[in-house]
Amino acid sequence: MRRSILLLLSVLLFASKISAQSELKYEENRSLTWQESIEFYQYLDANFENCALTVVGETDAGKPLHLFIISKENMFNPAEVREAHRAVMLVNNGIHPGEPCGVDASAKFAMEILQNPSDYSSMLDSIVICIVPILNVGGSLNRGNYHRANQNGPIEHGFRANAINMDLNRDFVKLDTRNAISFVKLMRDWDPDVLIDTHTSNGSDYQYVITLIATQRDKLQAPLSNYMYEKMLPDLFSEMRKSPYEMTPYVMSFDRRNPENGIVGFMDYPRYTTGYASLFGTMGFTLETHMFKPFKDRVLSTYHFLKVASLYLAKNKSDVVNLRAMTKESLRQKRVYTLQWKLDTTKYDEFLFKGYEMKYRTSKVTGQQTYYFDRESPWEKPIRNYSYYSPQKTVQSPDFYIVPAAWKNVVELLNLNNVESYPIQKDTSLKVEYYYIDAYNTSSNAYNGHYFHSNTTVKKESGMIDFLAGDIFVPVNQTANEFIVQVLEPEAVDSYFNWNFFDPILSRKEYFSPYVFDEMAIKILEDDLMLKKEFESKRSEDSGFANDHYSQLRFIYERSDYSEKTLMRYPVSRYYLGFAEIVHLIKL
Ligand SMILES: [Zn+2]
Repeated sequence: MRRSILLLLSVLLFASKISAQSELKYEENRSLTWQESIEFYQYLDANFENCALTVVGETDAGKPLHLFIISKENMFNPAEVREAHRAVMLVNNGIHPGEPCGVDASAKFAMEILQNPSDYSSMLDSIVICIVPILNVGGSLNRGNYHRANQNGPIEHGFRANAINMDLNRDFVKLDTRNAISFVKLMRDWDPDVLIDTHTSNGSDYQYVITLIATQRDKLQAPLSNYMYEKMLPDLFSEMRKSPYEMTPYVMSFDRRNPENGIVGFMDYPRYTTGYASLFGTMGFTLETHMFKPFKDRVLSTYHFLKVASLYLAKNKSDVVNLRAMTKESLRQKRVYTLQWKLDTTKYDEFLFKGYEMKYRTSKVTGQQTYYFDRESPWEKPIRNYSYYSPQKTVQSPDFYIVPAAWKNVVELLNLNNVESYPIQKDTSLKVEYYYIDAYNTSSNAYNGHYFHSNTTVKKESGMIDFLAGDIFVPVNQTANEFIVQVLEPEAVDSYFNWNFFDPILSRKEYFSPYVFDEMAIKILEDDLMLKKEFESKRSEDSGFANDHYSQLRFIYERSDYSEKTLMRYPVSRYYLGFAEIVHLIKL
């Protein structure tokens, strides 16, 4: 009787294995829908030990964000995993659901690990694997056949933007989407050693199916950056050469056309997944499979990379965990930060590349000359890889930033990123450094929901500023240092200033009535002889000014005590005294 029950159970198990496996249809040029991907992981959760499908947050589509965890000791809580010194690899899929190869590759990899526990037993002694089935749920539900004009399958695919038409892979600083908020919480909870974000790329044609963007080398903190570029990346490329899918660095041509003239390393600023991850000392890898290659090959090449990266991380767990601990310590000690980077065009490495010859032909549509890549003419030769950046603008960090609680969106986002801060207990005045915004450009079209600022410059001043109880001290002595500086220094490319969080300071709020101010202006000039001299000299040099009643009064008003001091004054202050001096102001 017992034997027959066991037999029945094993038949049922076998049947359900078959059923779940048949849901992977990448060989038929089909990718899992969001619903199918969740059902797939639910099936794994229900049928195998050592895995769990959890809900980690919300998405803008109103559907939950899931995380699938594979842990040999059934450790599904990040604190427990850290305690046990396991390395964590997080795979993020479907941030751009039109590029879904990672969705199917991750499902295949998870299934393989769980179905063959003895093959992966030693790997899972060292690492825990976390998989986001699909981050952009709304974009995945917006499924169709025509979202990717040049892409070679799958037949149906999702859309790049999410339920509020936002590109999630530009959202990791401003956090306008619930998807990105959930992802940031997940990143801070799990603090992965390695993040892999799966995509499909366009651009020039070449012989490879899979390309890789690693966190930009100069941006990642030492000693992890040296390790990643000198040990880990060469190993990953070498292991991929042994798979059916040799990998190349991401192909962004130096001349924007032909990789034969060299390629350029991608600068992953914090708005991108890997750029955000690197702020906290996580090594980031963006996989870009090539859109002209068959979907099946894109899935399988991604699958091979996931396998190679997992095995590497398991084998080198101690090194990675130790180096990350050292990197976090150097982040806590760091004082000089790069806010803007510039490609160093004098420095490059050469590597062997397998391309197709770029040729020209006349377009049958427009009659104009156009270029194309001839697959009948493959070539293999060394090309230049310009992947070094040098600091263009740097800043020395203060001991503390002080953020007024009134700017609650900023305070909320610092909290969400686990930034340590201390509220001031009573209203007080402090001598601090502060900035006036000197210049900035604003995009004329909306960029991912914002009229984004760039080329921002500031003027630094110092003086007494009044602070209110509840304003927060943010010490620059923590693992989140790089994040803090990159969002709070206005000149940083992805600062909260540039993402419009402080736009109210950019316009004047008080004005004057010329017919009343006319009388006051005489008195102001009599009391301030320097101003009077400046005013007279402008009148004599500028006849337009001398003939404009309002402009002349405004000139005096804007230089008088009546003019508001908060116009263009950036509200976050920089404070230099040590912790002992402020301890009476805060509650620990
Ligand atoms: Zn993408």
